[in-house]
Amino acid sequence: MGRAYLIEIKPTTEQITKINQTIGTCRYVYNLYLSKNKETYEKEGKFITGYDFSKWLNNVHTKEHDQWIKEVSSKAVKQAIMNGEKAFKNFFKGLAKYPRFKKKKNQDVKCYFPKNNKTDWKIERHRIKIPTIGWVRLKEYGYIQKDATVKSGTLSQRAGKYFVSILCEVEEIQARPKLEENGLGIDLGIKEFAVRSDGKIHKNINKTRNIRKLEKKLKREQRSLSRKYENLKKRGEKIVTKRANIDKNILRVQKLHARLSNIRLEYVKSIVDQVVKTKPRYITIEDLNVKGMMKNRHLSKAVAQQCFYTFQTWLLAKCKEYGIELRQVDRFYPSSKLCSCCGQKKVDLKLSDRTYKCDCGNEIDRDLNASINLLQAKEYTILT
Ligand SMILES: [Zn+2]
Repeated sequence: MGRAYLIEIKPTTEQITKINQTIGTCRYVYNLYLSKNKETYEKEGKFITGYDFSKWLNNVHTKEHDQWIKEVSSKAVKQAIMNGEKAFKNFFKGLAKYPRFKKKKNQDVKCYFPKNNKTDWKIERHRIKIPTIGWVRLKEYGYIQKDATVKSGTLSQRAGKYFVSILCEVEEIQARPKLEENGLGIDLGIKEFAVRSDGKIHKNINKTRNIRKLEKKLKREQRSLSRKYENLKKRGEKIVTKRANIDKNILRVQKLHARLSNIRLEYVKSIVDQVVKTKPRYITIEDLNVKGMMKNRHLSKAVAQQCFYTFQTWLLAKCKEYGIELRQVDRFYPSSKLCSCCGQKKVDLKLSDRTYKCDCGNEIDRDLNASINLLQAKEYTILT
């Protein structure tokens, strides 16, 4: 069984230099591959494959120019090229936009290191051995299963912190738990994050004081950053000393972004854990249609902050682990309009109606009603 881990590491100053050099080289080579391809396409109408570019880079280009490319792991450089090729192929297939140059400030470059020999990617309780970088201390101990064998890993940097993500082969030892007879319906929303058919409510974390405070702080930092950019433009690029202030400001923005997304991710994960611990036989959720909700200008930010996709992905992974069936109903299933008691459909239900009232005498919270309808849904697809 394969398992992925993302761990923060504590590299030494020397290792940081080496990591930054590798990341910088990967970014440079990726961008070089893009621009070389653009040039060749405009001149000759041809596409250069990653393989051909790699050959040219090693046998021709680095003989005369950019010899420093050779100073970092050739495997990582090769992977950067192959990532570029993949970006082009996705573009050709219509799956993605035309590949863009990677910029330093976006921090979207990851360095890939495959395991080539036995001594690569070794793990001990408090440290990990990364090819060409050496032993690096881990920030958290005992997190990775001891008998795990690493197959490959990537290095990345975000908001001044360094991370490795590794793909491990682990032995499946855990026996599946015994599940309960009943299922569980979950209604996701903006007011509350989730309302469950068993009556439990998971609150919207974005309404808490802590998150609001961080969001305010982020806005302030973003405003001050754009002001600094404007001033720089007005007064010309000559003022080099100001650059340090801008870099500090960028780092503050990145740190706040990272902190917010960490809090949200941890929250979503904790909800998933609580849900699967009730060990239902199946769980039914709605087709999120996030795209449709995102079109609504007033809702889009609130929807994005809820991380529904992340929730679904984590839920699916955990359901697989527990052997729980994850069901999803069509987005046209009228989960909020049906009466969960008698099955009548109420066509004129308004968004402002917080309580569902039916002629049969059923009076119930709107979201709870929806979650019970999800629980009772007869038509669904099983997510795998
Ligand atoms: Zn009814």
